[in-house]
Amino acid sequence: MPGPLDLQSIVDDIHRELTPRLGEGKVADYIPQLARVDPKRFGMAIVTVDGDVHMAGDAQVPFSIQSISKVFTLTLALGKHGENIWKRVGREPSGSAFNSIVQLEHEHGIPRNPFINAGAIAITDLVLAGHTPKEAIGEVVRFVRYLADEDDIVIDPEVARSEAATGYRNFALANFMRSFGKLDHPVEHVLGVYFHQCALAMSCVQLAKAGLFLAASGTNPLTRHSVVSKQRARRINALMLTCGHYDGSGDFAYRVGLPGKSGVGGGILCVAPGKASVAVWSPGLNHNGNSLLGSLALEMLASRTGWSVFGA
Ligand code: GLU
Repeated sequence: MPGPLDLQSIVDDIHRELTPRLGEGKVADYIPQLARVDPKRFGMAIVTVDGDVHMAGDAQVPFSIQSISKVFTLTLALGKHGENIWKRVGREPSGSAFNSIVQLEHEHGIPRNPFINAGAIAITDLVLAGHTPKEAIGEVVRFVRYLADEDDIVIDPEVARSEAATGYRNFALANFMRSFGKLDHPVEHVLGVYFHQCALAMSCVQLAKAGLFLAASGTNPLTRHSVVSKQRARRINALMLTCGHYDGSGDFAYRVGLPGKSGVGGGILCVAPGKASVAVWSPGLNHNGNSLLGSLALEMLASRTGWSVFGA
């Protein structure tokens, strides 16, 4: 029988082994504010379902979570609208870039999944139902604070402004969907909320805590908050596994074998069901727009712990 895992040593080893490579990859620069981040930052945090926290590097430094926010808004939208959301967005991997417009035209304004930009914009439109944009932004922030049980999570207004000023592609996607009658609210309102959710600033520890409900059948074991049903937690994990890394999702599933969601800020939230929630941050991205060293750190973690959704 192998002994219990020494997760702190595993995280420390990963951090030490990756230190000579810090700075590899390309920091996202299409959002000017993100280009200012130090590419050598690296943080990693594991929060187990028993409540143990293991961390290394810059695990307590807030960074821009960007598309990782799509997991939280999907959870919110499912809570508000239930399975009706699938009339507006699909559940298939896209096989194309995170901000691709080609597929959207073919598919008449129904995005492939909730994690590509078009799909996330459609989900944000659903979160906006019955709210002003300001209220919807408030709801997203409150929800993430509740999930993480951390009151000091905030939105970085500079990042939101920076993205609004340069988000030409996202405006194109949203206008396209609106032209197909697939957005209920004005494009400016939907994107106003979307840019703010992407600009949430969270540390690896906060992010891992916020994702813990997905590792524990829908209930955060630390707060005992019942967030979603067991079945819904499984399904969100399934979407993260198949669609969480854009057109690099297959590669991530192959190498890491766990559900994960990346963001262009260089963060990845990864779920080991029944074991732990893990967050990693390294700003340099690979060619699919996913954190290069972050993916590698998770691959090392999965291989050293034996955590996988594909077998023991
Ligand atoms: N806010 C980014 C965008 O819409 C999110 C992309 C990402 O993190 O992958 O372009």
